[in-house]
Amino acid sequence: MTPEEFRRYGRQVVDFIADYQERIESYPVLSRALPGEVLAGLPEHPPEEGEGFEAVLADMERVVMPGITHWQHPNFYAYFPANASGPAILGELLSAGLGVQGMLWATSPACTELETRVMDWLAELLDLPARFRSDGPGGGVIQDSASGAALVAILAAMHRADGGASGRGGVTGRRTLYVSSQTHSSLEKAARMTGIGAANVRVVDVDPGTLAMDPAHLDALLTEDAAAGALPVLVCATVGTTSTTAIDPVRAIGEVCRRHGVWLHVDAAYAGVAAVCPEFRWINDGLAEHADSYSTNPHKWLLTNFDCNAMWVADREALLGALSILPEYLRNRASASGDVLDYRDWQIPLGRRFRALKLWSVIRWYGAEGLREHVRTGVRLAQDLAAEVAADPGFELLEPHPFGLVCFRPLWDDLDGDAADTETLRLMERLNASGELYLTHTKVSGRVLLRMAIGAPATTGDHVRGAWKLIRAEAAAAGPASG
Ligand SMILES: *Cc1c(COP(=O)(O)O)cnc(C)c1O
Repeated sequence: MTPEEFRRYGRQVVDFIADYQERIESYPVLSRALPGEVLAGLPEHPPEEGEGFEAVLADMERVVMPGITHWQHPNFYAYFPANASGPAILGELLSAGLGVQGMLWATSPACTELETRVMDWLAELLDLPARFRSDGPGGGVIQDSASGAALVAILAAMHRADGGASGRGGVTGRRTLYVSSQTHSSLEKAARMTGIGAANVRVVDVDPGTLAMDPAHLDALLTEDAAAGALPVLVCATVGTTSTTAIDPVRAIGEVCRRHGVWLHVDAAYAGVAAVCPEFRWINDGLAEHADSYSTNPHKWLLTNFDCNAMWVADREALLGALSILPEYLRNRASASGDVLDYRDWQIPLGRRFRALKLWSVIRWYGAEGLREHVRTGVRLAQDLAAEVAADPGFELLEPHPFGLVCFRPLWDDLDGDAADTETLRLMERLNASGELYLTHTKVSGRVLLRMAIGAPATTGDHVRGAWKLIRAEAAAAGPASG
């Protein structure tokens, strides 16, 4: 493709995206494609001769769009938001356009140094501890995902716990990891990948009311395991759990970790970015004193296209000890000088994209005030919805709901237990099949709850009120006396 052709088709692609943004509300939120339908629309064999890009754009409309669930739709309330924004999309395009591979400082100094600066900016925007900044012993790095960040944290923690023996090989004995029943599943996955093993993932009790990890039980488990000869590697505390945005007591957990000399990783994948607003900085309590690593996802609620996870460590020595490796073909003068960072040593793959460009674009476009406004809007809409749910005798609201997620369930008269859960799930399926909105569910204390996560930039009060009206009407139509 010549630059001239690129210019022509590039304009068409940008127009395609802008048109999509303009008419996104005309699509059913949840794709109605059946299994195999997209596949059946695609030729079985690749083309022998090249085709014009018009053909790709035509198939985008014909084959791809019917199989798209519209994550940027203002009535998308499922999972957590995965905000895409104009500046992030453009930043992503710039990154693709440069096509650099930033594994080493030397392979594109700007790719490394812009990332260093932007991660320091984000640490400042979130008011994170000074020791996470790159001018101290710690520093920030962009990872692909919160799952990847957790895996990297475990590898660093393991290196610190056993002095590198696990990396060299020949380690015997049991190593343990500490989570709660509310911790994200990526921690168990990482335990499998790191050889700790799922059987050595210790599940700390939670307070049945708040679903927050119990530090006293953590203390007891650590004591028991150490006495039995195990090597405790890492404790994961969560700020804003995936199921209900519950918050573990980071400070109290950190004190336990300190006593036992165990690495504390704080997973704030969804909620961490709320700290752009001073009124949410309480979620950072205990980080400065206790967190060895911390991660949050600008690719959820902070307007930055997937993938962009922000991870910080308080001391990068263990991380580099665990992951740096220097084959001859990567040797270069800049790395040897010690004057530069090589982010390949901070992550699993060797290669890395220039992701900092999109985060930089987002922060510059919105500014701190614009980011705060976005978070505040999501929280305000969620609090308004929660007030409506609380006032409705046909529904039960889960408290607390500090961010943009509201969990609730209809109270089905004459039905309880599993029968009520079945009815709630049926309601959810009908709502999602309507195409008007998309929400998901979770289970708390054995009961099914609907989850409504608000935070798409296009969502307004009218959208949320419309969604709530539809939920009430559907519930009333189904149940004998609810709504
Ligand atoms: C979403 C989420 C994750 C996983 O995020 P990825 O970036 O997709 O790996 C991990 N932890 C929590 C608390 C989450 O909400």
